[in-house]
Amino acid sequence: MEYFRLRGIGVSPGIAIGEVSLTERVIFIERKDLISPDKIGQELGRLDKAVERTKTQLTRIKEQIKRKVGEEHSFILEAHLLMLEDKSMRSGLERIIKEENCRAEWALFCIHRKYKHLFESISDEYFRQRQSDVSDVLTKIYRNLESPDKKKKDDDREKILVAHDLLPSEAALKLSRGNVLAVAIDMGGKTSHTAILARSLNIPAVLALRNISQRVRDGDYIIVDGTDGEVIVNPPLAIRKEFFDKKEKYEDYRRELKKTAKLEPSTIDGFRFCPLANIELPEEVKPALSMGAEGIGLFRSEFIYLQSTSLPSEEDHYLIYSQIAKDAAPFPVYIRTVDIGGEKNLPQLKIEKEPNPALGLRAIRFSLRDVDLFKVQLRAILRASAFGNVRILIPMVTEIEEVVEIKMLLREVKEELSRKRQKFDENIPLGVMIEVPAAATITDLLVKEVDYLSVGTNDLIQYCLAVDRSNEFVSYLYKPLHPSVLRLVKFIIETAQRGGKEVAVCGEMAAEPLSALVLLGFGLKNFSMNPIFIPKIKKALRSVELKTVKKVVREAMNLRTAQEIEECIIEKILVKHPNAFLTGKVI
Ligand code: PEP
Ligand code: MG
Repeated sequence: MEYFRLRGIGVSPGIAIGEVSLTERVIFIERKDLISPDKIGQELGRLDKAVERTKTQLTRIKEQIKRKVGEEHSFILEAHLLMLEDKSMRSGLERIIKEENCRAEWALFCIHRKYKHLFESISDEYFRQRQSDVSDVLTKIYRNLESPDKKKKDDDREKILVAHDLLPSEAALKLSRGNVLAVAIDMGGKTSHTAILARSLNIPAVLALRNISQRVRDGDYIIVDGTDGEVIVNPPLAIRKEFFDKKEKYEDYRRELKKTAKLEPSTIDGFRFCPLANIELPEEVKPALSMGAEGIGLFRSEFIYLQSTSLPSEEDHYLIYSQIAKDAAPFPVYIRTVDIGGEKNLPQLKIEKEPNPALGLRAIRFSLRDVDLFKVQLRAILRASAFGNVRILIPMVTEIEEVVEIKMLLREVKEELSRKRQKFDENIPLGVMIEVPAAATITDLLVKEVDYLSVGTNDLIQYCLAVDRSNEFVSYLYKPLHPSVLRLVKFIIETAQRGGKEVAVCGEMAAEPLSALVLLGFGLKNFSMNPIFIPKIKKALRSVELKTVKKVVREAMNLRTAQEIEECIIEKILVKHPNAFLTGKVI
């Protein structure tokens, strides 16, 4: 058996060692079989049956997942059931059968190809990944055109799942069985459903391996290292031993970290900080709380647009927000209004192509152009506020005029709801994200207009340093510790606090121990991050004294470069707090 190693993206940390179980790949066959016009009715009936069978299967899987993993994970199946009922998709399929006198397989192939192209043209990775949901539903219908199902029988032994791609419903079903040790897949990225689910279920996963599904066979022996993003196939004994040791160390470390979830989030000298979670899917709320999150600091509501090929209704928004509010209560939930437009374009939103999307009609700029759509979202958030501690967060604000307009719209929506006697939190807090230098420098003016601020450092760094956050050619310039970034962030935090308003950081800076310590040194209390990083940050902040960190950060702010700042922080904090968790490979 051939020994080789493959590199991919580690999306869920941990190490697993075991036998391969290869998942068969479903391919839409590109063949247009014609039928006579008098058979069209029969073909439409065949499509109907396939849709019905798919509905029954999805409902069964949904129930199974609800029972075995919990209600929150069955949400994706709910979305697929809705997609099955989507009239535009269904009428598209029927139209092709009728107009082209062809079999349903060809119609499914065409619609699948159309969506694939649409989604591939989206540059935002998270949105692009949602193609898999549409693909999932269409594939299931395709499979169900033939009955009975000729699927490979799964056995119950513990295995490492290898596949070309996993449809979201397949991922939910297979990963929830409890016999998957790890996942290794050709496709996918950090924000694919498989990645999110694997993280929530603590299953090590490496995605984007390109061709692993063609290079391994059932029964091959492999190691999946989800921490380092590597897969080792048929390793020799010495390497197996090395990884067994690594696995043990990782598990000790993980147990140690997990304990911090229950510990008080405070520094040695008693400063209480608040770890919050950034999430994209409602099913992430409960796992986030179990990691020690004390609320949802950022719900990226854009994902709702990906659950359907048509525009989500107020009810769609409302159901999701109220579920999150209930699951997180009594902790707060900051619902960010959609951050789409610009490069996060979507087929159902007719946005023109822009020459410079990062500086274009994005986020709140898009919402204020399409006020009706924005009001739908505001109404849904307000209605959900009746169920918990819900707050509104506005992305990419640049000027006071925007806030004034948002407040006016919010007032209008509140009045409409009151007239209809619908319940909502009359005093729902409103906050803005500080993501562009223009907003940062008028923090003193903005705080007077809103209830809180949240610093989106991912974008703030991009706009402050003029470095595209997803362009690897300039990534060497993307420096969170650049003195210019730190001066801005320090100014925002101090100004908000002076104005008596709450402030959080919800960019990646809050999830990195070194920069989190700098933020602590600026007096930051609220750290919002991907939930898997919460234990690590909690451990880092719990092992230091605020007084010392403040002093060191004050000194570091006199330095000239990101590197000098980094070295100063590491050196001076480690001297005082040798246990500060600053370095080393972590999850
Ligand atoms: C940010 O910009 O820091 C942020 C949290 O928003 P997003 O990453 O969704 O742009
Ligand atoms: Mg942002």
